[in-house]
Formats: sequence, C-alpha cells, structure tokens
Amino acid sequence: MGFGSLNSGEMLIGLVLAALLGLIPANIAKKKGYSFGLWWLFGFLFFILALIIALVMKSKTAPGLQAVADVQATPPGMVKCPHCQSNIVPQAAVCPYCAEKTK
Ligand SMILES: [Zn+2]
Repeated sequence: MGFGSLNSGEMLIGLVLAALLGLIPANIAKKKGYSFGLWWLFGFLFFILALIIALVMKSKTAPGLQAVADVQATPPGMVKCPHCQSNIVPQAAVCPYCAEKTK
C-alpha cells in the first residue's frame, strides 16, 4: 500500500537525474561530431552504456582538431612559420612545410 504515491515523487527525481546524467554522454558525443539529441536519449535510457561508448568511440572531428592542437603547441626551441604556422627550427631560412621564406 502507498506504493504508487510513494514512488511518484522518487520516479520524478529519478527521471530528472537520468535526464541530467544523459547530458554527459550527449556532450561527449556532440564534441565528437555526433547527434546531441540521440545521445542524450541514449544516455537517458542507458547512462553507463552510453557514457562508455561515448568515451571510447572514435571522433568524427578528431583529425581536424588534432591538427589544430599540433599547430598551436610550439615545442621549446621551435618557432612558428609565419606563413603556414608549422613548427620549424629558428635556423631554417625556408619553411620545410610550405617552402616560404621565414625571414
Ligand atoms: Zn611554412
């Protein structure tokens, strides 16, 4: 007795929590170039499963992002080519990537 009334509030809290948790894999999937809405639904229904798959699945946008990250990080002792932004040694008169003069 009281089963239905007792659980309606808890059910609602559970649903809200599941909806909020679903945002986590949805955000991860969105960053990887997948549908936010579909992954939110997936996370809402199967949070742990969606989270694991979202974390391990390959990113659609990774190659581009990786290239940008590589360009942005200039290792010590290297300079950026003013033409193509590649990391080159400061002594190089000509950029080995775009063949433009660096000075
Ligand atoms: Zn260059």
